[in-house]
Amino acid sequence: MATEQQVLDALRSVQDPDLHRDIVSLGFIQDMKIVGGDVSFAINLTTPACPVKDQLKAQAEEAVKKISGVKSVQIDMRAEVRSMAMPTGQFTIPGVKNIVPVGSGKGGVGKSTVAANLAVALAGTGARVGLMDADIYGPSIPTILGITEQPKPGQRGLIPPVAYGVKVISAGFFIKPDQAVIWRGPMLSKLVDEFLRNVEWGELDYLIIDLPPGTGDVQLTLCQRIPLTGAVIVSTPQDVALNVAEKAHIMFQQLKCATLGIIENMSYYICKHCGEREEIFSSGGAERAAAKWKVPVLGKIPLAKNIREASDNGRPIGLVEPGSPEAAAFAEIARNLAAQISIRNMQEQEEPLVKITF
Ligand code: ADP
Repeated sequence: MATEQQVLDALRSVQDPDLHRDIVSLGFIQDMKIVGGDVSFAINLTTPACPVKDQLKAQAEEAVKKISGVKSVQIDMRAEVRSMAMPTGQFTIPGVKNIVPVGSGKGGVGKSTVAANLAVALAGTGARVGLMDADIYGPSIPTILGITEQPKPGQRGLIPPVAYGVKVISAGFFIKPDQAVIWRGPMLSKLVDEFLRNVEWGELDYLIIDLPPGTGDVQLTLCQRIPLTGAVIVSTPQDVALNVAEKAHIMFQQLKCATLGIIENMSYYICKHCGEREEIFSSGGAERAAAKWKVPVLGKIPLAKNIREASDNGRPIGLVEPGSPEAAAFAEIARNLAAQISIRNMQEQEEPLVKITF
């Protein structure tokens, strides 16, 4: 009969390709049982959106089957999203494991479209997801996700409406559509505070925040108030957009918030008649920025009519056309972002976050 030690030794040959460690030393193996030749255990991953879930399972099964005396291997794949480092003494939202702002340099590059579709794609993997629309000057998330319901008062704050499995709070719920926002810094800071402190987010694996474009008061307040896992930057491929996106990256760096990656939106266009691919807004920009900033490209999203239509109709492309290349692009980005968050949290455990105070 195989021993637990033999099984663990065999499993040490299985590496998590993102975390660059074996699944035993990462503490992924749980609930091992060996009865005669039947071995069963669970692999507890760091995210349900793990891009290599099936590959890890197959490798683990193969490794354990090689042990003499093993007849069957039963593996239960689980996931428990790890939390970002929480510096003591700093305000945190209880139950919220990771806070990830989505920023851009310029407006109109598709930041809100990406934030909404990313949140829905993450929720689709089984993760618990919230989306905070802090794009105060153009809060478009309620439209993109077709939300007509208002938040309701709860015992400890506002209860956010849920759209496609995502809990959503938006500046748009509190500003009339025909009202122009001409707010000074302290008012913007107050709104961010309200959204952080007085919303009943409950248990969340990921809270995605759609920021206004640029490097203003909302960004500053957010980075000062709460520990963030890391930021995502959305840009179109041309230099003029990326040069401004770089300012957003530098701002996050200065505020000690790591950039987890860059997403290139409107990356290319595929002609639906001839299938030709055209790089309307140039190409290679995201790779150049990623190399300069030393961050990964989390993915590329085509310029596509169905993305714009899905947003206008309040139904995410992943649900309207689940088999489409556009839906696949968002799903891939969700997996890659979840992997980067896991990597970041692992690094943070080894090298704790230093927060600057103002
Ligand atoms: P931002 O938040 O950066 O201001 P939005 O997400 O509001 O940008 O997008 C601006 C406009 O571009 C919207 O009409 C949106 O539907 C459209 N859009 C965004 N991304 C795409 C895309 N990949 N393909 C087609 N239209 C897009």
